[in-house]
Amino acid sequence: EAGDENGSTDTPFTERVAVVHGDRVEVVDLHKSFGSNDVLKGIDLTIANGEVIAIIGPSGSGKSTLLRCLNRLEEVTSGHVYVDGEDITEKGVNLDSIRQRIGMVFQHFNLFPHMTVLQNVTLAPVELGKLSRTAANERGRELLSRVGLAEKAAARPAQLSGGQKQRVAIARALAMDPEIMLFDEATSALDPEMVGEVLQVIRDLAKSGMTMALVTHEMGFAREVADRVIFMAEGVVVEQGDPRELFANPKEHRTQDFLSKVL
Ligand code: ADP
Ligand code: MG
Repeated sequence: EAGDENGSTDTPFTERVAVVHGDRVEVVDLHKSFGSNDVLKGIDLTIANGEVIAIIGPSGSGKSTLLRCLNRLEEVTSGHVYVDGEDITEKGVNLDSIRQRIGMVFQHFNLFPHMTVLQNVTLAPVELGKLSRTAANERGRELLSRVGLAEKAAARPAQLSGGQKQRVAIARALAMDPEIMLFDEATSALDPEMVGEVLQVIRDLAKSGMTMALVTHEMGFAREVADRVIFMAEGVVVEQGDPRELFANPKEHRTQDFLSKVL
C-alpha cells in the first residue's frame, strides 16, 4: 500500500543489509567459553545509533568479555556480532578497521610512558595511515582540549594524575574517530576525587550523540547518562530497561538482589 510510483523496490543490496540490521550494534546468540568455563551463554543485545547503554552486574558475570567480543579483542565461540550490518565475527574481517570504528577505554589506561601525551594520542592514526603527522597533531590538540588537557600535550604520563591519564586514554581512543565507544570500568582504578572529571568527559561524549556501551559500577552515573541499562549475571542478560524503571522497580530476583547490595 505504500505505493512507490517509481516502482523502485530495487534498494541497493548494501542498504538492504543496513535495514535488516538497523542498529549500530546487534549481538545475536553470543556464546563465549574459555575452556570448559562458559562465560557468555547466549547474549542478545542491540545498541541503536546514538544510544548509550550501561551494562551492570556482579563481578565475573561476563561484562568485560562481552565488551571485548564487540571489537574482536576476543574471538566468539558462537553467535554473531553485527556492526552497522557487517558481521565482525567472520574470519576474513579487517581487525584494524573494526578497532578503528570501535574505540575502547579500559580500567587501566595503558599509556606509553616514554611518549608525551600528544604522541600517545596521535600514535594510532599516524601508524595506521589515517592522518598525516600534521593533521594528527592538530586533531590531537583539539581532543586534548576537549578533555580539558590542552596544556598537558608535552607532559609524560608519569607527570599526570590518574584522572588526567584516563582523560588522555579517552582522547587517544577518539583520535581514531570511532563510531562507537566502549568503556570498561573506566573509573574503577581512580581515586574518588578523580572520578568526577572522567565521568564529565564521558557525559559530554554521550551528549554529543556518540553510540556507547559503558560497563560501570557507578550506578548513579548509569541512571543519569544511560538510555538503557542491561543487567547481566552468570553470562546472560537477566533484565534490561529504562534506567529509572530498572533501578526503581527491578523485576527479576537476581536484579533486586544485586541492586540491594550496590545501591
Ligand atoms: P566481569 O567483567 O563481569 O567481571 P569477565 O568478563 O571479566 O567478568 O569474566 C567472566 C569470566 O570469564 C570469569 O570467570 C573470568 O575468569 C573468565 N575469563 C575472562 N577472561 C578470560 C581469559 N582471557 N581466559 C580465561 N578466562 C577468562
Ligand atoms: Mg570486568
